[in-house]
Amino acid sequence: MSCVFCRIAAGKLPADVVYEDDRVIAFLDIHPLNPGHTLVIPKVHLERLSDLPDELSGALLSAARKVAQAAAAALGAAGVNLVVNDGRAAGQAIPHLHLHVVPRFPGDGGGSLHSLLPGKRGLDLPGIAERLRIGISQDA
Ligand SMILES: [Zn+2]
Repeated sequence: MSCVFCRIAAGKLPADVVYEDDRVIAFLDIHPLNPGHTLVIPKVHLERLSDLPDELSGALLSAARKVAQAAAAALGAAGVNLVVNDGRAAGQAIPHLHLHVVPRFPGDGGGSLHSLLPGKRGLDLPGIAERLRIGISQDA
């Protein structure tokens, strides 16, 4: 088992686990952006978001919500960012799907998702929406 997250899920590598059930496990990121920065992963090895079955996506998001609520209640977080770096182009470093739960605090120096890229003007929004609708209908 070479995948580091699979080894954590199997209890073969130590991690600061904050939540676990039969399908998902959540543990602290060893390179935290803020206190409580947690990774929520499916226990089964899935590399990409496109590999995630619908029956598992609810468990993943439910666990992320639990962590986010605990970060607010126990750590005083005022907000949270949920981020999936899906694919190398998006900066995915570990090839096992993981959902970052990043607690946010007033004045923590970070921005929103929109601070990641400079932004694009003049895009054909109706055309892009149509292409996405077609892509979604073909996936169903
Ligand atoms: Zn894995």
